[in-house]
Amino acid sequence: MTERRLSPETLAAQALGHVDGATGALIPSIHPSTTYERDADTGYSRGRVYARADNPTFDTPADLLTRLEGGAESLLFSSGMAAATAVFLALAPGDHVLAPRVMYWALRGWLLDFATRWGIEVELVDTSDLDALAAAVRPGRTRLIWLETPANPTWEVADIAAVADIARAAGARLAVDSTVATPVLTRPLELGADLVMHSATKYLNGHTDVVAGTLTCAQRDDSWARIAAVQRQNGAILGPFEAWLLQRGMRTLYPRLRWQCASAAALAERLAAHPRVAEVLYPGLASHPGHAIARRQMQGGFGGMLSVRVAGGREAAIATAARVRLWTRATSLGGVESLIEHRASIEGPTSPVPDDLLRLSVGLESAEDLWDDLATALG
Ligand SMILES: *Cc1c(COP(=O)(O)O)cnc(C)c1O
Repeated sequence: MTERRLSPETLAAQALGHVDGATGALIPSIHPSTTYERDADTGYSRGRVYARADNPTFDTPADLLTRLEGGAESLLFSSGMAAATAVFLALAPGDHVLAPRVMYWALRGWLLDFATRWGIEVELVDTSDLDALAAAVRPGRTRLIWLETPANPTWEVADIAAVADIARAAGARLAVDSTVATPVLTRPLELGADLVMHSATKYLNGHTDVVAGTLTCAQRDDSWARIAAVQRQNGAILGPFEAWLLQRGMRTLYPRLRWQCASAAALAERLAAHPRVAEVLYPGLASHPGHAIARRQMQGGFGGMLSVRVAGGREAAIATAARVRLWTRATSLGGVESLIEHRASIEGPTSPVPDDLLRLSVGLESAEDLWDDLATALG
């Protein structure tokens, strides 16, 4: 190849294209070893000491993600929650952080409970309202702004570049949960974010068979070193088998996501015209409040996630989900099979989610089959 930078599709398909020097194997090996041989002079000339700190099986998925995100380094965690909470645990008690009002519910719960009791001052704001966000920032005290875009489960869109300006002016760092956008659609570090987080359980792995999380940094600075220490010391690491499955899943990320975007967009249009649907929430629809920013910030699609507010309220929504045959009633998202979920009943009474909302994760089935099933279930 020439010097031209390879496309992300190529990097992902070949998982960076390394061939094992000793065996010629195209596929990286799984290394279950927990420990590494020490030199006679007490050193570790081969660089690895103990598998809580690192494992060669992490290298391919971590390095591939770093390239896809355009970052400096990535770490793999035992779950998306382990990755996200490591960012907050690397702060100090007394630090002020801003997080979205609408966000992944388990992380919101952890911030309001554990992180708050631990001494972090958590303030929830409407992160799609830049004036509100700028007003909530406390220069010198706000250490971190956390964004999720598009945000679960109403798919509100935050303007990463504009929030990065606000964060930089206040001396705060910006972290983005980009689980739903993936590097296929949005590269937060190029828009000025310091950190990007994924629940790799979702699109990165994509096959509903690994729980994993990732963080990627723009720069390997002191703050990144603290996050890496939290991971290492708390042991929030991925297992070697899961890391291996993750690199396998990531190879098909681009074609999977593009197919899912196309199907989600087609379903959103058709659902919006259905008489039993009160509202469709999808950033690709011109009616969505985040559409204009999404058009700028998301390249080549608006994601594979959408939500439907069913006419007739909570009971009608639950009855619709009860009637599907092809979609599966289950939580989670980003897999090859399509899932449907009544969101309010899993998030509980403190949830800001409307109780007539069904969240749809669009898989790789035929969009026509998915539509027929939904249209029948809506009645
Ligand atoms: C699932 C999810 C998480 C949490 O990830 P786990 O891998 O389940 O721990 C965080 N953010 C978003 C947007 C998610 O969908």
